[in-house]
Amino acid sequence: TGKRAFIAGVADDQGYGWAIAKTLASAGAEILLGTWVPALNIFETSLRRGKFDESRQLPNGSLFEISKVYPLDAVFDCPEDVPDEIKNNKRYAGASAWTVTEVVDSVKKDFGSIDILVHSLANGPEVSKPLLETSRKGYLAASSASAYSHVSLLRHFAPIMNQGKCGSVISLTYMASEKTIPGYGGGMSSAKAALESDTRVLAFEAGRKYKIRVNTISAGPLKSRAAKAIGFIEKMIDYSKANSPLQRDLEADDIGNAATFLASPLASAISGTVFYVDNGLHTMGMAL
Ligand code: NAD
Repeated sequence: TGKRAFIAGVADDQGYGWAIAKTLASAGAEILLGTWVPALNIFETSLRRGKFDESRQLPNGSLFEISKVYPLDAVFDCPEDVPDEIKNNKRYAGASAWTVTEVVDSVKKDFGSIDILVHSLANGPEVSKPLLETSRKGYLAASSASAYSHVSLLRHFAPIMNQGKCGSVISLTYMASEKTIPGYGGGMSSAKAALESDTRVLAFEAGRKYKIRVNTISAGPLKSRAAKAIGFIEKMIDYSKANSPLQRDLEADDIGNAATFLASPLASAISGTVFYVDNGLHTMGMAL
């Protein structure tokens, strides 16, 4: 309650970022979103036209508020990093100040500080290719968008995160980092392994320097826009339901609830963890 959250990686109402925003709002947090520049127009238009009103409903019947939507491309840290092909791309034409440092400056100007940072974004241009057939360019792009973006957002937001209430950073990872998931390719498994390792190191560094907690949620499969791009999300969902200890449908709200717990004082002593929210699937070594 009374906290402000910045959630990076929301461009519709189908993914984990949206569910986390909704649950945090329901718990009383103020919500700021970071939306990928090429997806910004359609997201803001849909929001304005009420397309998301049904999924904006909180348990008490009111619609949760989004204080501000910031354009963001977490692959770039400052304007000097942006190549001409992106600068001149018409999908970026209408937006400005969307590199990580510029977004942090804008949030600082608009609101002063935040308490909670959520990283709910990933991109692997070659995700549907096996690792064995992934190019260097595709591998590094997956790593930049899905792992370094977390380091960069934390690095630049940390100085404006409230330490008194114990700031909290949360990201989303997937079990393909530690167990082979055939089809989760393009270096995305490598990027998730980096994200999980970085969670431990950043928990130490940001813990000592800023008293900030850093955790990642290893989530089970959800049919989000990003997951559909992988190409076999239905199979992942069916497998998970059939083989997990709990054999129940995994809802986006399950992840929203876990993130809200991790961001709350109930989790004051939890940092550097990979927190599994997957109906227990990660414990299984043999399907039964
Ligand atoms: P999603 O499509 O809702 O979210 C991904 C978001 O990342 C999109 O909004 C996209 O616009 C944004 N994005 C991509 N590149 C970006 C960039 N350079 N800068 C800023 N934003 C960018 O899908 P999701 O599945 O909810 O993904 C959220 C997180 O959850 C990801 O880290 C994903 O790997 C993780 N996750 C998803 C699943 C699943 O099954 N859906 C399982 C485990 C973990």
